[in-house]
Amino acid sequence: MNLQLAQRVVVVTGGAKGIGASTVRAFLREGARVAVLDLDVATAERLFAESGGQGFAIRCDVSKQAEVAVAFDRILSTFGGVDILINNAGIQMYGDVTETSEELWDHVLAVNLKSAFLCSKYALPSMQERGGGVIINVASIQAVMCQRKVAAYATSKSALLGLTRSIAVDYAPSIRCLAICPGTVDTPMIHNAIRESPDPAAVLRECEEMHLLRRIAKPEEIAELIVFASSDLAPFITGQSIRIDGGLGVEIKGSKQS
Ligand code: NAD
Repeated sequence: MNLQLAQRVVVVTGGAKGIGASTVRAFLREGARVAVLDLDVATAERLFAESGGQGFAIRCDVSKQAEVAVAFDRILSTFGGVDILINNAGIQMYGDVTETSEELWDHVLAVNLKSAFLCSKYALPSMQERGGGVIINVASIQAVMCQRKVAAYATSKSALLGLTRSIAVDYAPSIRCLAICPGTVDTPMIHNAIRESPDPAAVLRECEEMHLLRRIAKPEEIAELIVFASSDLAPFITGQSIRIDGGLGVEIKGSKQS
């Protein structure tokens, strides 16, 4: 399948690890030129060294306008424009409403939501100049359903769907914007989250059992969808969120009827 992504300029936020790193590898395999914006620039740089692909990593806190502005200046002066933006950077912090401090709320909303607004703000003028582009927001299944004690996280991911629709409406027809909603994915985020529990292996098994496919996703499986949805093979998808969740929540649990 020729995705025709060779030489396209792709920006991936949070591209050093997890879903972002798999996405960077997948775009580099397609011959795209990739810029990674991440706090962990050393890890991100290794992706380019490993693959020999074209691109670079910039140390950037994507929740800060000044840092995003400097990063996009460098991308535009190096590559001459942006074709595809993957708003992937995110953090998971736990707490119900009464437990969540104002600082934690602001931090989660800034990293998970404001970052997508800021990066889109700096990418869109270049996409308009080039006559087209694609923005993919990595939301979560928690945009539409919710575990306990994720007030800030679930709110940030639901709001990303609103931002997705807003960009899709304002910048159609030349620019597409969509969101993807993964179920649990095997990344450092998940392992960091379950490490604190008394029995991490049991929590992992529970996560696997929640999905109809009885496993969690590999980050490469999410990356494949991101790359496909960004390509010209998905030209009629915009404004929507796509669930990639192994059937999480499809089964009605209860007493069996035979
Ligand atoms: P991860 O923690 O494994 O990797 C996240 C990356 O984002 C890291 O490289 C980190 O350095 C970077 N990052 C964090 N804060 C940043 C900031 N302020 N500025 C720049 N970079 C920053 O996470 P992941 O599991 O790969 O998650 C990627 C995205 O997918 C997130 O938006 C997450 O909410 C979403 N998601 C993950 C899962 C899952 O189960 N892993 C499920 C659904 C959605």
